[in-house]
Amino acid sequence: QEPLLDVRGLVVDYAANGRRVRALDEASLSVPAGGTVGVVGESGSGKSTLGAAVGRLLPPSAERVGGTVRVAGAPVFELAPATLRRMRRERLGMVFQDPVASLDPTKRIGAQLRLVLGRRADKRVLASHLERVRLRDPREVARAYPHQLSGGMAQRVAIAMAMAAGPELLVADEPTAALDAQVREEVLDVVFSLAADAGTAIVWLSHDLAAVARRCARVAVMYGGRVVEDGPAGQVLTRPAHPYTAALARSAPARAGHGARLEPVPGRPPTLTGPSPGCAFAPRCAFAVERCDRERPEPVRVDGRDVLCHRVGELPFTEPEEVTA
Ligand code: ATP
Ligand code: MG
Repeated sequence: QEPLLDVRGLVVDYAANGRRVRALDEASLSVPAGGTVGVVGESGSGKSTLGAAVGRLLPPSAERVGGTVRVAGAPVFELAPATLRRMRRERLGMVFQDPVASLDPTKRIGAQLRLVLGRRADKRVLASHLERVRLRDPREVARAYPHQLSGGMAQRVAIAMAMAAGPELLVADEPTAALDAQVREEVLDVVFSLAADAGTAIVWLSHDLAAVARRCARVAVMYGGRVVEDGPAGQVLTRPAHPYTAALARSAPARAGHGARLEPVPGRPPTLTGPSPGCAFAPRCAFAVERCDRERPEPVRVDGRDVLCHRVGELPFTEPEEVTA
């Protein structure tokens, strides 16, 4: 069966002040209908670029150099404008880190929600959509302007709007990063239960490996514009196969325990300018050998996941007998 979202070998460059930055370097990701996938990686790894590319919402400075994005089989970058708009409206919901930026400051919440639901949506229908994201006093929220809402409330409104049309896929780009811990969990509960009820697939982009692994069936780990490990969430978190995932898992709060100091991933992030001939993580990798600097790793299937690492299976955190390909 065809995946709902199929990103294959996607290469995206940004042109800034005469310099080119390769933000995605053959990134691949596939999500089945109703699936939940957390995409994690440090700042600059390409998460937001990947999320934006799904809706062909890349900024003008970005250029798709290669690869494809398909949503329900439709090649997103080849669609005519009207078809693209319909695809976004009918199949795709998006939420971002700053909910206020995605809301129109000059319109009441109810009026904005009505733009998604259609003019015929009456007060009761509007209220029911706001109730679904567990906003108290939905009628009062419908009358409010965005600046009158708290961050958590505004994010719930943004989620209600993204989910109103019953999308098949929700792309969430760190929508809880600005919220405090308790509100964050509440918002996560709302999104994942709404999506589960509606059969909506979720691509959740985040820094937080442990949080994502708790909520999503699968985790895709990005580094230097590529998905370096992609597999079942529990396994990726507890038995990482890629050295970068292992470093990320060690630095994850759930492992470190409350109040413990987080261990940063050692070394420096990749520069992303000149394309490196080898593995982007090699300069920071404790296990790198000469081949890693020279040759780009291709995905290898190991223990139920796809891993981009020459040394997979030889490393202490996976047992060699688990290597199946
Ligand atoms: P973060 O966790 O900080 O949100 P990210 O994983 O979402 O990071 P992206 O925002 O996709 O990463 O950025 C990937 C790379 O592309 C980075 O090197 C970034 O500096 C660069 N980049 C992103 N947006 C632009 C832009 N508009 N112009 C130039 N470069 C950009
Ligand atoms: Mg981002």
